[in-house]
This record gives sequence, structure tokens and C-alpha cells, in this order.
Amino acid sequence: MKMEIPARSENESFVRVVVAAFVARIDPTLEELNEVKTAVSEAVTNCILHGYDCSEEGIVWIIAMLEGNKLSVEIEDRGKGIADIERAREPLYTDKPELERAGMGFSIMENFMDELYVESSPGKGTRIKMFRTFGKKSWENH
Ligand code: ATP
Ligand code: MG
Repeated sequence: MKMEIPARSENESFVRVVVAAFVARIDPTLEELNEVKTAVSEAVTNCILHGYDCSEEGIVWIIAMLEGNKLSVEIEDRGKGIADIERAREPLYTDKPELERAGMGFSIMENFMDELYVESSPGKGTRIKMFRTFGKKSWENH
């Protein structure tokens, strides 16, 4: 599944619904569904808020694939990029404290997905890849 949306915050709920519909056929639990929707929406919010600096200009690309019970999702912007990925991934790190961001987006993605990869170049953009296998017992997830 591939989609591209204008980088506007009103499109976030649309992405959540599409991702939920996409995984529906493998019959996720409500908890799995909520966790994946939350992880994807954190990544999309980051593209809009950080990648494109709330300019409401630019495109966010979302690619999702299912192989059996394994979901992969890629979320990409061609915005400003991240200079120090390691620091950005630290819990509580945010460069927008004035907007009352908590700096927890990456931590949430990491917790709710099995694997998280961040590729980014300053001035070029950012691509997040995440994987989650459905149908595991909850204690196996983390
Ligand atoms: P929160 O997600 O809790 O509202 P936040 O967005 O600042 O706060 P994270 O989602 O963890 O926290 O992101 C940490 C930092 O990484 C951001 O403050 C920003 O500096 C950088 N960042 C994240 N995603 C992107 C992106 N797509 N483009 C550019 N910078 C990004
Ligand atoms: Mg965030």
C-alpha cells in the first residue's frame, strides 16, 4: 500500500484510518491496532511538525506491506532532515519545547513496534522504517 498526503495536520486521522483498514485482514487485537496506529501517527506528525516545520507545504509518503503477520511501514518526508539521529531518538529530547512537545515520539514508536530504523540527511529529508509482527503474546512484544 502506498499513499502520499499533503503535510497538513488534518490528514493525520486519515492515515490512522487507512493503516487500521490495511491491517484489518490479519485480525489484530485492539491493543495491537492502537499501538500501530499510534506509532504511525507519531512518525507522520514528526514529518509535518519537524520535517516541514509546520509550513503545511510538502508531501508525506507512507508505504505499508504485510508479509504474513509481519507489518512493515515506511514514512518519509523530503524536509529538513535530522543532523544528530542518536540524540533525536533519546527519550525527552525535543527541539520544540516551546510547542510543548514531550520528546517522546521516537520512544513511543520504539515501544509499540518491534524494530525502528531512522535514515535522515540534513536538507534532504527523513525516512522511518518500522516493523511489527502481529499475533505474538503480549509479553513477547517488548
Ligand atoms: P513529541 O513527539 O513527544 O511531541 P518531539 O516530536 O519533539 O515531541 P520525537 O518525536 O521523539 O519528539 O522527535 C525528537 C526530535 O527529533 C524532534 O524534536 C526533532 O528535532 C527530530 N525529528 C523527528 N522527526 C523528524 C523529521 N521527520 N524531520 C526532522 N526532524 C525530526
Ligand atoms: Mg514527535
